[in-house]
Amino acid sequence: MNTRKDSYKHQGQRAQLVKLLNTNKINDKNVLMAMANVPRHLFLSKDFEDRAYDDVALPIDEDQTISQPYTVAFQTQTLEIKPGDKVLEIGTGSGYQAAVLADMGADVYSVERIEKLHKQAKVILSQLYKNVKLFLSDGTMGLPDKAPFDKIIVTAAAPKIPETLLAQLKPGGMAIIPIGDLKLQKMILIKKSVENIITQKELGDFRFVPLIGKDGWQKN
Ligand code: SAM
Repeated sequence: MNTRKDSYKHQGQRAQLVKLLNTNKINDKNVLMAMANVPRHLFLSKDFEDRAYDDVALPIDEDQTISQPYTVAFQTQTLEIKPGDKVLEIGTGSGYQAAVLADMGADVYSVERIEKLHKQAKVILSQLYKNVKLFLSDGTMGLPDKAPFDKIIVTAAAPKIPETLLAQLKPGGMAIIPIGDLKLQKMILIKKSVENIITQKELGDFRFVPLIGKDGWQKN
């Protein structure tokens, strides 16, 4: 049971973070409201609590990272999340991105490959939101039993677009995936039209930890 709490101090720090994001091209009010609501410090170890509302990626267990708040806001805003959207997230990590999606009213299905992170995220998310389901598996295979999804968000770096995931996207749906090598990736927005036509758009450079799995990078 996580006994750490939110506080006025943390709320003030979040308000400052939201101001910063707003001056940096994040203008979707619902995204900003979710970022103001979600207690990011609870998704980090005590050691990093003081830096929870800096706009930086931070270490979590197992050599992984919690994404930079700007990156979380950018991916979320790009997907135009609406209440009731069925969203597949690949790379639960700390659970923070899943919390932002859940706070916006999405039905979140989030997959993690590392058991320790999956379990930790389960503890904190189950205390905060009912609309998040967590899965322990290779996310490059998606969740065939739960498909199709309105939106798909991948929060780890893929060498190419995982075709299995695209097949699990609804016609009219959108996916956002960082694609590139292990050092630098382009954020790619993929749209599937109602006629099942796929289009792609590049949205700038980002850095993520690798997506490791059957349709991602192979673990050495
Ligand atoms: N969304 C996370 C958050 O809010 O903290 C940040 C994700 S972290 C940058 C990337 C995560 O993707 C790591 O936890 C990593 O273990 C996970 N990952 C990598 N390959 C995966 C795969 N094939 N399936 C599921 N998760 C994967």
